[in-house]
Amino acid sequence: MVVGAQARDVDTIIIGSGPGGYVAAIRAAELGQKVTIIERDEIGGVCLNIGCIPSKALINVGHHYREAISETPFGLETENVTLDWSKTQSWKQNTVVNTLTSGVKLLLKKHHVDIIKGEATFNDNETVNIVQDDGHELLQFNNAIIATGSRPIEIPSMPFGDRIIDSTGALSLEQIPEKLIIVGGGVIGSELGGVYANLGTKVTIIEGLDHTLNGFDHEMTKPVLDDFKKQGGEVVTSATAKSAVQTADHVTLNYEVDGKEQSVTGDYLLVAVGRRANTDAIGLNNTDVKLTERGVIDVAENMQTRVPHIFAIGDITAGPQLAHKASFQGKIAAAAISGDKQARDLHYSLPAVAYTQFELATTGEDLETIKSDNLEVKISKFPFAGNGRAISMDDTTGFIRLISDKKTNALLGAQIVGPSASDLISELSLAIENGLTTNDISLTIHPHPTLGEAIMDTAELADGLPIHI
Ligand SMILES: Cc1cc2nc3c(=O)[nH]c(=O)nc-3n(C[C@H](O)[C@H](O)[C@H](O)COP(=O)(O)OP(=O)(O)OC[C@H]3O[C@@H](n4cnc5c(N)ncnc54)[C@H](O)[C@@H]3O)c2cc1C
Repeated sequence: MVVGAQARDVDTIIIGSGPGGYVAAIRAAELGQKVTIIERDEIGGVCLNIGCIPSKALINVGHHYREAISETPFGLETENVTLDWSKTQSWKQNTVVNTLTSGVKLLLKKHHVDIIKGEATFNDNETVNIVQDDGHELLQFNNAIIATGSRPIEIPSMPFGDRIIDSTGALSLEQIPEKLIIVGGGVIGSELGGVYANLGTKVTIIEGLDHTLNGFDHEMTKPVLDDFKKQGGEVVTSATAKSAVQTADHVTLNYEVDGKEQSVTGDYLLVAVGRRANTDAIGLNNTDVKLTERGVIDVAENMQTRVPHIFAIGDITAGPQLAHKASFQGKIAAAAISGDKQARDLHYSLPAVAYTQFELATTGEDLETIKSDNLEVKISKFPFAGNGRAISMDDTTGFIRLISDKKTNALLGAQIVGPSASDLISELSLAIENGLTTNDISLTIHPHPTLGEAIMDTAELADGLPIHI
């Protein structure tokens, strides 16, 4: 570590090692850059450490536990099912999270990426200051990619602490709560609510909009909500969270709905009302990088900011805050920095998934856009109840919906509710990106018996030649 005012020259720096930053680092190294990655916390960012991965681990445990205590139609009987929550937490951290973050560290090492642990702030358009545990270091860079991600939004009248927790707290509770209140029924609130509902917690979701799981249409979310209520969950929509009062072992949330003051008491209050881009404390005011009105970094199609050699990717740019979006943009920025003048984010479809009790996945155009744009489309929908594999799995809730151009049959959008929706959606994104038609899909041989056959069935339905419906 160098202490002093003399800046050390480096080539490409990347600030933040989440799915945006670490992917950009590896790709830039593959393309010949000498890369230095700066991370103030843990390699892997939010997604690997306190986001996508640990939440999916707990969702999986919730599914297994619920299956184990539920009656099955095929005769499996289990008795005295118990869950050792401390083992769950240790597995989530040591086997799942640590395996992945160590893997990413190895990949960075393999590509000769230098890792500096510390907090970076820009001094100007050419230098960053890195504050470390034992001093600070000044780096002068040729190119920079900002990938500093986002953090949970705090409601001023209910600051995080003790029994008021953010998603990170909800992933690491020492005990399974009896009652959990969640402010915010978006994807994160609904996914974590689903985990605890499956583990026997009484979950109450307080949502400001008139619906939860914004971004997925009502027909998609209905099975999820019905199931959540069957599990004892409660959802209050069009409600405003006002304040929270804590005692040693409880927290009470006061909220207003229909002009009436209400309250609910639980063991914990999870506030999941969105995430704020980490653009405020990285010294952007010392640079010519500009923010949009919404506080995210203004970037061109190649992820370049207003400063030609500074790029920005991931949650700090406009659009949905998704790990795969961050990684995709990371690869574009890395290519652009390495001299690829064609590198552009020109995607037609950005898939989004909610890992609720029944998975929800959407890509390309959705129903609302189609309606508001008055597009001439065909909509075909095939239920998993008509799919042999789903029936053999006893997992038949949900459907596949395809939206295709009425004249050309080109696939414009797709939505899936049900088993493996998160994996199945990729076939449909591939089809959209490549301008494929429903006829191309129905003429593609899908193996039998698979859930994927339901995609072929939905395409055949769009073509007016259905076999299984
Ligand atoms: C509970 C939860 C579940 C989620 N589930 C999913 C999911 O299933 N699928 C999905 O696509 N997305 C999911 N997300 C969102 C996903 O985690 C983010 O979209 C993704 O992590 C964004 O990646 P990023 O690279 O932009 O930033 P991040 O992953 O946020 O990484 C940014 C990194 O930058 C570091 N950093 C910030 N400032 C500085 C600085 N000044 N100096 C040095 N380092 C700095 C931070 O420490 C952090 O490690 C989830 C999020 C949460 C919270």
